[in-house]
Amino acid sequence: MTTAQAGPAQPALATYWCESLLVDGVTIPGVRLTAGVDGRLTARADKVPAEPGDIRLGTVLPGLANAHSHAFHRALRGRTHDQGGDFWRWRESMYAVAHTLTPERYLYLARAVFAEMLVSGYTAVGEFHYLHHQPDGTPYPHAHAMELALATAAREVGIRLVLLDTSYLAGGINTPVRPEQRAFSDGSAAGWLARWANLHETLAADAAARPAEPALVTLGAALHSVRAVPRDAMREILAGLPTQVPLHIHLSEQPQENADCLAAHGVTPTGLLNGLGALTPRLSVVHATHLSDDDLSLLGSTGVTVVMCPSTEADLGDGIGRARELAAAGSPIALGSDQNAVVDPFLEMRGLEMGERLASGSRGRFTPAELLYAAGTDGYAALGLGRARLVPGDPADLVEVDAHSIRTLGARPDQLVLAATASDVRRVIVAGRIVADSGRLVGTAAAALAPPGSPAGLLRDALDTLDTGRSPEAPSPE
Ligand SMILES: [Zn+2]
Repeated sequence: MTTAQAGPAQPALATYWCESLLVDGVTIPGVRLTAGVDGRLTARADKVPAEPGDIRLGTVLPGLANAHSHAFHRALRGRTHDQGGDFWRWRESMYAVAHTLTPERYLYLARAVFAEMLVSGYTAVGEFHYLHHQPDGTPYPHAHAMELALATAAREVGIRLVLLDTSYLAGGINTPVRPEQRAFSDGSAAGWLARWANLHETLAADAAARPAEPALVTLGAALHSVRAVPRDAMREILAGLPTQVPLHIHLSEQPQENADCLAAHGVTPTGLLNGLGALTPRLSVVHATHLSDDDLSLLGSTGVTVVMCPSTEADLGDGIGRARELAAAGSPIALGSDQNAVVDPFLEMRGLEMGERLASGSRGRFTPAELLYAAGTDGYAALGLGRARLVPGDPADLVEVDAHSIRTLGARPDQLVLAATASDVRRVIVAGRIVADSGRLVGTAAAALAPPGSPAGLLRDALDTLDTGRSPEAPSPE
């Protein structure tokens, strides 16, 4: 039996007893986890019996992070497969959806998408957000209306949100924003930095006004890509952004980006970031599908996290990134759902390994424990949320998985993540509170909406407002 205690005493919120806990590559029987009211673990004891009052769970994983999401892309699911084409053609469909969103519609849609994530086993999401303004580029009358819609959606369903507020200033290298991209742009690096700083204050004030609730929403930052943020603007943003803030960027998802960057700057996108001093452990690069050997060494040696999005990279025909080589070079690997055509952390873990198998012709490129580490603690670290290893002081975020379903029965516990899917997720605990159970929301503001607790009900309403152009009738339950 081992026990561990966090430092300063916190009032206990709840104690969970896990029949078995899968963490750090081992399966531990009989684990008691105590959550404090601040949403962090205050104590853990391994190999102990349950005590009266404990909430009993079955097989439990640490919280899982969706380190890269664009919530609104969910509206395209199952609607683009008759078009053929490539990433760039898909992007035109995506712009069309972007222009139908208002803050109110976005609240509805994001609430449904975050609800799906939660019941699928994601306890935290990094939302890569660039839909800042009205379609013609003018700010909404209510400051930060779109950002606050996302924050409200996350709070109402009970998922941790890291809002990766994104700078998007150009339509391509040496190309101004196109008319359909005006909603994304703040005009200049200074404009984006000013809005970011103001948003930071706004979110802090919002959290301070809710002292009884755990702080589920934090602010990070992103540069959309070397296509969409000119070099001098990236330099200005890197100088102006607080150093502890997690910073993300799309990198080399498409060969065209590499070609354009080489033509304009004489270096690859990774080389360009290196020249700006941006390659540090606080940076996460998303996709990194098409890297040179030098790029790969640079990212690994500087400890930059690579966020792979296997389901999206397959869906869009991006290619298979060099995940195993990146990990060997020193890059932590995190996982994201990106366009949300698939919302299933187990399928992303599997996609990472299966892409490696298809490309290399060998199995076991990532062990199941490494896959779980990527989906959990490396994702949390990439979002600035600390670790997800269930050590006292870590977020009290847990995912209970049915180890006896038609999919998982017979699987060895240490290989469960390669057998389970989101359909096997039972109770989901965020910040010490049960927020989902077997596909339904529980115990949150959104759980009370009709039909009670149903993510599909929320989504039906949200898609209806987009498809019909009507305004959402029901006010948000503030
Ligand atoms: Zn993306």
